[in-house]
Parts: sequence; structure tokens; C-alpha cells
Amino acid sequence: MARRSRTKTPIAEQDPAIRKSNFDEVCLGYTIEEGQAEAIRCLQCKNAPCVTSCPVMIDIPGFILSIKEGDMQEAVDILGKYTNLPAICGRVCPQEKQCEQVCKLGMNKNFEPVAIGKLERLVADWALENQAFSKHIQNNEPKNGRIAVIGSGPSGLTVAGDLAKRNYEVIVYEALHDSGGVLIYGIPEFRLPKRIVKKEIEKIEALGVTIETNVVVGKTITMDEIIDEFDACYISVGAGAPNFMEIPGTALNGVYSSSEYLTRINLMHSYEFPKYDTPMKRSNHVVVVGGGNVAMDAARSAKRLGAEHVSIVYRRSLEELPARIEEYHHSVEEDIDYHWLTNPIEYINNGAGELKGVKCVKMELDEPDESGRRRPVPIKNSEFIIEADTVIEAIGQGSNKVLLTTFPELKLTKWGYIEADPKTGTTSIPGVFAGGDIVTGAATVILAMGAGKVAAVEIDRYVRGKKNTPVTTKSLRKDKR
Ligand code: FAD
Ligand code: SF4
Repeated sequence: MARRSRTKTPIAEQDPAIRKSNFDEVCLGYTIEEGQAEAIRCLQCKNAPCVTSCPVMIDIPGFILSIKEGDMQEAVDILGKYTNLPAICGRVCPQEKQCEQVCKLGMNKNFEPVAIGKLERLVADWALENQAFSKHIQNNEPKNGRIAVIGSGPSGLTVAGDLAKRNYEVIVYEALHDSGGVLIYGIPEFRLPKRIVKKEIEKIEALGVTIETNVVVGKTITMDEIIDEFDACYISVGAGAPNFMEIPGTALNGVYSSSEYLTRINLMHSYEFPKYDTPMKRSNHVVVVGGGNVAMDAARSAKRLGAEHVSIVYRRSLEELPARIEEYHHSVEEDIDYHWLTNPIEYINNGAGELKGVKCVKMELDEPDESGRRRPVPIKNSEFIIEADTVIEAIGQGSNKVLLTTFPELKLTKWGYIEADPKTGTTSIPGVFAGGDIVTGAATVILAMGAGKVAAVEIDRYVRGKKNTPVTTKSLRKDKR
């Protein structure tokens, strides 16, 4: 038997010197042979901890065993039981904080964990290339009910796919002109190619799900109409409203929110201007504020758009960086600089209303705050200026409010997210379910999907149970906050 390698099987990537000026995918994925070499490293643990740490509880040893045995179709079928979006999760899940963090192989200090995410991606890409999806036969039986899903991000797509498999008629309403949520408008092409997202969405449509784009629920159609016309609905409108530093100079030309910057690039294809209509400012010195995946994506996109110098300003240290570690390593390879323990306090005007620099202060870490992370505090007289013609704030997002403001009956948390039971997705209103970022606040793709999975089970239970006791808009209106 082949000896178990201590390190993960290396994976092909685009050369950093080349990729930093193109938007093509960075990681090129395993070949089947490389995947098998990696699969051999799995210990096939009983009560595998990797499974319990996965928010959708994928049978990880099961699909890895199928790869090892060369049965790719079996691996596809196993994955298909747990996830509707494996090619996406294999690319963007923070595996190092979930399945790979608890992998028993990696618990031995001489070994790296199994590359679970890369193996998931291998199986999913093989399925997309070979049209070898897990089989789901649509039948002609009468549907169990009609469900509306609001928002076509990973949470909405998951609930939609799972309910279609349970023989429901599902209509997904999406405000933008394209479906996929953050997968389409936020995460850049070089990390998650849009053709992959589109193929995964086509798979969900093939289950019988209808997606209607350019429909803003709360404006184009109301929640009253949704409640009257459907047996239940699932709200998954995400948390895409940007937070701002609110420091002097925010209104200067050259100051962007990451939401605007990335949406221009990804959804509106500004990196392909003039082929597409949306232009993007030419920047030379770019400062990105923040330390999450969004900050990495903004910085690496700015580099690809031709900026000479790009730096990330983060108020904590590398140890606390919330971004996926792979993205951090890739960013360093692409010549992104870091100002650790640094916070901006003012954007400086060149006298003509344009940004010319970012005044920052150095920070130190104090005792942990309520989040459990050490609290950054400014160091006196430590101000300095970074030259910049563009700054991109990537300091978190809040709830998308368009729907919420037109539906005051729905109970919200004190942070403005929907109050919903994480085990079922039920909200304060019968028949109205919710999940994903609009419940948790900005989180991860897999958590949003996990919420969709549990809600699908509960919606099915609810609709079957309520067929004799319909909920009307009138009865809902009595349920005031
Ligand atoms: P979303 O993906 O936000 O989708 C919500 C959808 O609802 C949107 O399409 C929106 O247009 C639509 N909508 C809003 N209001 C309405 C309305 N009134 N009517 C109709 N439709 C509406 N997570 C990871 O796990 N790994 C990563 O690497 C990662 N990188 C990220 C990079 C960026 C730039 C961003 C912004 C986020 C990243 N995340 C990452 C987080 C992850 O993408 C989100 O947690 C996830 O997409 C949330 O899914 P969702 O379905 O709840 O909402
Ligand atoms: Fe394999 Fe690691 Fe999961 Fe064990 S914990 S089954 S070694 S992937």
C-alpha cells in the first residue's frame, strides 16, 4: 500500500506573477490521479469529526473512499445527498476552520489534514464536466404545495433545491438581474468562476425550480401578495448593506465601499470595460480597510485592475485575521502589503475633492472584548499617512432592508436581522421562514446553506400540517410586534 504522505498533495495554481494581472481562476484543481493520492491519506475514521464539524454534515469519509476507489459517480451521488452547491463549497468554504481543523490526520503534529475542500471540488467539477449529476427524477404527481423563496444566494438556492426534491413548486425571486447572491456579485472570478456558479444554478433549475430575476420583494411585489399566493415562504435576502468607517473625508472621490467596488467588477464586469458598459477608476495607490474575505477580494481585484501598490490596513494582527488563510497566502504572493495593528482616522483631500492619502493610527491589543478577541486600542501620537488615490472600506455589512421595512410584522433582533430559530428557520410569523446572512449577519456560504437545509425540512412539515388550517394575511396582521 502507498505510504501516507505527511503533507497535502500539491495542487496546481496559476503563477502569481502572471495571475496578478488577470481574472482567471487562481487554483486549477486536482487531476483524478492527484485526488486519489490525496484520498489515500484519509484514515476513514469511525465517528469522523470532519463530518460533525461540517454545517451540512457531508459524509466526508464516504465520498473520499469513492475517489480512492476510482468510483467518481458514487462520490458525486454521496455529495449530492448533502449539498446542492459542492463546486462552490469546494472553492470558498473556510475548511481550515471547519472539517480540516478537526481532521484526525491533522491532529498528529507531523501531518497536515486531508485536503477535504479540494477533494470536494474535484468531485463537483468532474460531475459538471461529465454531466454526471446525482439523479433526481421529476414526477408528474400533484405538487405538495407552492413555496416562494426571496433571494437567490446560497441559502435560497439550497432551500429551493431541497424543496423541489420534496415535490414542491418553488419560485425564487431575485432583486438583481442575475441569480446567485454574493456568489455572483461579491466573490471575484479568480476565486469562483461565474461559469461554475451558473452551472450549479442550472442544476437547481433542472430540479424544477423557477428563478425570476429583477423582482424586488417589498417593491415589485409585496409580502402580502407572497403570503396570499404561496403556502409558505423563505426569506434569504442576505446582509449586503455596507458599513462605513464614518471618518472625515468619506465623501471624497476615490472612497468606495467594498460592496460597490466588487459589484462593479463582478456583476457589472467593469474589468472588461469597454466590452461592458460599467467603467472603473484607474488607481495607482490603493488602501483596503478590513481583514476578512471581502478585504482580500477587493485588494486582489485592485491589483488585477493595474494598481501599482495595494495595501491592507487591519486593526488587529495576522493571528486574528478572519479571512480564509489560503486567500491571505495568495494575496501575499500577489504583492499585497499589510499594515497590521493599524486603523484609518481620516481620508485626506488633495484640494480638489479627491483622495490623496489615508491618515492612520497604530493600535495595540488590549484585553478580549465580548467577541472573545483582543480589543484594539489606539497608540497615542502614532499617526502616519499612507499615500492613496483609492480607498476601499471592507469592514462588514448589515442587513438588506428593502423587504424588512415593508413588513413590520416580522420580529427583528436588536441588530436588525430577522429573529429566526436556527434549528428550523421559523420566524415570528407562521409560514414565513428565514435563514442565511439575514438571520446570522454576514457569515459563510456553508452556514447559509445549512440554514436552507434545516428550513426545507421544517417548511415541508409545516405545509403538510397546515393544509387544513390556512394562514391568511388577516390572521398574520394580528400578530403585531
Ligand atoms: P446572499 O448571498 O447575500 O444573497 C441574498 C440575495 O437576496 C441577493 O442576491 C440579493 O440581491 C437578494 N435580495 C435582497 N433583497 C431582496 C429583495 N427585497 N427581493 C428579492 N431579492 C432580494 N463566505 C465563504 O464561506 N467563503 C468565502 O470565501 C466568502 N467570501 C466572500 C466574499 C465577499 C466579497 C462577500 C461579500 C462575502 C463572502 N462570503 C464568503 C460570505 C458569503 O458569501 C455569505 O455568507 C453568503 O453568500 C450568504 O448567503 P445568503 O444566501 O444568506 O445571502
Ligand atoms: Fe478522513 Fe480526516 Fe475525516 Fe478522519 S477526520 S475521516 S482522516 S478527513
